[in-house]
Amino acid sequence: MSVARTVAKATAEIIDGKEVAAQLRAEVGESVRSLQRQHSVTPGLAVVLVGDDPASQVYVRNKGQQAREAGMNSFIHRLAADASQEQLLALIAGLNADPSVNGILVQLPLPRHIDEEAVLQLLDPRKDVDGFHPINVGALVTGQDCLVPCTPMGCVALLKRQLGVLRGLRALVIGRSNIVGKPVAHLLLREDCTVTIAHSRTRNLEEECRRADIVVAAVGRAKMVKGNWIKPGATVIDVGINRVAGADGKSQLVGDVDFEAPSRSRAPSPRCPAAWVP
Ligand code: NAP
Repeated sequence: MSVARTVAKATAEIIDGKEVAAQLRAEVGESVRSLQRQHSVTPGLAVVLVGDDPASQVYVRNKGQQAREAGMNSFIHRLAADASQEQLLALIAGLNADPSVNGILVQLPLPRHIDEEAVLQLLDPRKDVDGFHPINVGALVTGQDCLVPCTPMGCVALLKRQLGVLRGLRALVIGRSNIVGKPVAHLLLREDCTVTIAHSRTRNLEEECRRADIVVAAVGRAKMVKGNWIKPGATVIDVGINRVAGADGKSQLVGDVDFEAPSRSRAPSPRCPAAWVP
């Protein structure tokens, strides 16, 4: 996720997502130590990976490592790409019942032969740390306490650290997926923003961008949003991760926002390292 705050007629300020992530991890580590001190409890995170998708393997490894660094127990369960849906459901049922497991993450996407919805619905909503279970989705929409998907939570945490109170700001969320766009929009609504959700059928996206104080781009199209669409002083969160061929022929990662396109306020760099990864 890369983030830039445009500053009127000057260069943009890039928010250091890595620094914020390190602070958050330190806070989580402190909470874990306090649970251990006060209640002799060590939280356990189970991560389930089906198949051998290279990107998913990296994400799962990182989740395990970060859980251990925070002092939690980490349990990684790997199933073969041709594992049956029944095998996966049985594994989830076991993790639901296991008192040493407090959180369960099922790495998506799952292989095509597995019904993703059936798997997510079987998760104990209290252990559904990705916040994808319909009970958590419903609670988010109705403004109740719930587990929230991590990338949207990261977007709003970064915005609050950067801007403080978000009340009354005009926010544009580009993308309406269940894992990023919709939860970001609901979290911003909770912060009393005036929220617009744009998608592939939105007319005149450029005009929508120009009116926004906050733009969250979660599309998955390389450099689709141009820097000169952004209002001076607005804050942009670029959630997109797109692999494209670089000038040297090697592949590189770029976001959804072209910060280097001619703009009223140029950004010095298109990306900063991802602060929260799926
Ligand atoms: P997704 O499910 O493919 O959703 C993309 C959304 O973009 C859809 O709602 C789609 O609209 C909209 N869209 C497509 N073309 C558009 C256009 N021309 N104008 C406006 N909207 C358009 O993707 P996703 O899972 O939300 O992920 C979005 C991006 O974020 C991807 O690059 C993904 O890799 C990245 N991501 C990053 C993180 C992170 O932690 N950094 C986490 C998750 C995802 P329709 O609904 O009308 O089709």
